[in-house]
Amino acid sequence: MKIAVDMDNTLFDDFGQRMRPGIRELLMDFKEDGHELVLWTSSTRERATRILAEHRVVGLFTACLYREDYDPANTGAPKDLRAIGADAIIDDDPKHVDFATATGKVGVLVTSYRGTALKPDDLAHVRLAFRPAKASWLRWLHDDRPR
Ligand SMILES: [Mg+2]
Repeated sequence: MKIAVDMDNTLFDDFGQRMRPGIRELLMDFKEDGHELVLWTSSTRERATRILAEHRVVGLFTACLYREDYDPANTGAPKDLRAIGADAIIDDDPKHVDFATATGKVGVLVTSYRGTALKPDDLAHVRLAFRPAKASWLRWLHDDRPR
């Protein structure tokens, strides 16, 4: 799947200082599973590129969309996944998540990360949405290691 990932309060706190616990590992797992990740933020390019570089996460994404790319006048336009052929979005803004589901896409809402403690299972539903646990017999079926 091609998955759009929001930046502010999804990947980082409000100031782009702290990264959400567990999100880097989760996105790396998704990549390993063959998903394609695209960063989609309402932040300006200048601000976002600085924050992404500081946290060394640019390499996770095949492309980045900034405010200038879809909502230059900052009108609060929805992130329309159809415009980039994406299948899903991970975002803390219900507006974007609801728009995604209304257009037949997968929308996964996360709590807004503000740099403070999160529930221990904060990202469990995100993992499940894209990495469903396979039944054991199915895992055996797909296990192509020599035996
Ligand atoms: Mg956000």
